[in-house]
Amino acid sequence: MFEEDKKEELGYELRSTPGKGVGVYATRNFPRNSVVVIGNPVKTAEKNTAWTTQVGVDRFILRGGLSSKVNHSCSPNVGYRDNANGGMDYVAFRDIRSGEEIVTDYAMGNHVIEHMPECLCRASRCRKTITGWKDLPDEVKREYAGFHAEYLTVMDANMDERLN
Ligand SMILES: [Zn+2]
Repeated sequence: MFEEDKKEELGYELRSTPGKGVGVYATRNFPRNSVVVIGNPVKTAEKNTAWTTQVGVDRFILRGGLSSKVNHSCSPNVGYRDNANGGMDYVAFRDIRSGEEIVTDYAMGNHVIEHMPECLCRASRCRKTITGWKDLPDEVKREYAGFHAEYLTVMDANMDERLN
């Protein structure tokens, strides 16, 4: 257990989920746009793997504490936001009530996802496979504006430049 994950201070804890192993659950309410889980990088990584998070065009980190235990959902209640520690916080994408599982869309933080199994989120809008940002439909990208890693905007702009 990391010091920064003391639940009485931060408002979340690790619990077992029905069918997905462990997950992170809110122990208090969080209003939309508030920081839910602070992301502290443990170390930088050479390349992208199933355990890393991409935080820049060619920068990857291993996440510390419970932030690494947040499960994916195609209907997320938290998004990613770059922070001053060189990592990314999870920020409430909608109001979250105490007792809800904290879930994010991994595409909000990762440009490419190649190591993930089929999605088990059971959301009505489930994409069936956990895909990265580059494979998201444009309308979902627009919906996630302000709640995804900033470098993804840079990568989209670079892509547009190559096409034009
Ligand atoms: Zn899904």
